[in-house]
Amino acid sequence: MNIKYLTPDTVSAALELKANHGSQAVWFAGGSKLNAAPTRSDAGVFISIDKLGFDRIELQGNTLTMGATSRIQELIESELVPQSLKQSAGYIYSRHLRNQSTLGGEVAALQCEAPLLPMLLALNAQVRFADGRELALDSHLETREEGLIEAIVVPDITLQTVSHRVTRSADGLRVVNAAVSVDGLGRQVVALEGVNTRFDEPTKPMRLRDIEGLGFSGDELEQAIKSALHAVDDICGSAGYKEYLTAIVISDLLNECRELAKGVA
Ligand SMILES: Cc1cc2nc3c(=O)[nH]c(=O)nc-3n(C[C@H](O)[C@H](O)[C@H](O)COP(=O)(O)OP(=O)(O)OC[C@H]3O[C@@H](n4cnc5c(N)ncnc54)[C@H](O)[C@@H]3O)c2cc1C
Repeated sequence: MNIKYLTPDTVSAALELKANHGSQAVWFAGGSKLNAAPTRSDAGVFISIDKLGFDRIELQGNTLTMGATSRIQELIESELVPQSLKQSAGYIYSRHLRNQSTLGGEVAALQCEAPLLPMLLALNAQVRFADGRELALDSHLETREEGLIEAIVVPDITLQTVSHRVTRSADGLRVVNAAVSVDGLGRQVVALEGVNTRFDEPTKPMRLRDIEGLGFSGDELEQAIKSALHAVDDICGSAGYKEYLTAIVISDLLNECRELAKGVA
């Protein structure tokens, strides 16, 4: 097969190449998905985005802009990135993989296991596309809009956030990965991956909106969370186990985050 690897050095040249090659071409970032079995791409044209200047991490006021080609390990090493996001970046288990894969690739690839996404959702992250569009990550996960991602923007890094990930074994498959945030007005965001809210969909990173408006705690909160979930039996555990566990994890995270938010209000 004749494969083309193109290396544009301006955004306009990159967009033009994509327009010319259409569905034959894919954006190539770290290549950890595009180049690996079984997710290897059979596209004929790979457009590298390495030279587009999407590698900067910048803080303006409390707004953090992380370029799409920032490596996951760079997020962990950056002084500008909040600790909560570094912790979630560390959920990607191998340093080798963190050195190769990019933030934009992690968002665009929409893997069924996507360790960073619950925390990005809790932080109200926005997806900025190279053509000027910007939309909430939450909406992007619903609509799966096509386009070259330029950056991920976190509007307020001072937002109180916490996360927790339960795995089958130390470095094993995750059972559930959840993150929550609570702002100074008591507004809550609850996000998770690994456990679904519908039987008829594959698991995907999502917000648990039904829970976000609730002020409950204790058993009442755990029961409400359990009712919002529809887990399925799989290699990570039975549906009942996953719903029970997730209810406890999210309930504990909300309690912890509410206390943290009170401390800064
Ligand atoms: C051994 C191994 C283990 C893995 N384990 C995990 C894991 O535990 N968790 C996990 O989440 N993933 C895992 N992955 C998958 C992969 O590492 C992630 O999806 C990764 O973050 C992709 O980033 P990348 O920069 O390497 O993307 P690439 O492989 O370059 O691209 C991935 C996809 O995203 C698109 N893309 C990339 N950047 C952009 C952009 N800026 N704008 C628009 N589209 C873009 C590409 O066109 C492609 O469709 C694993 C992969 C391997 C090889």
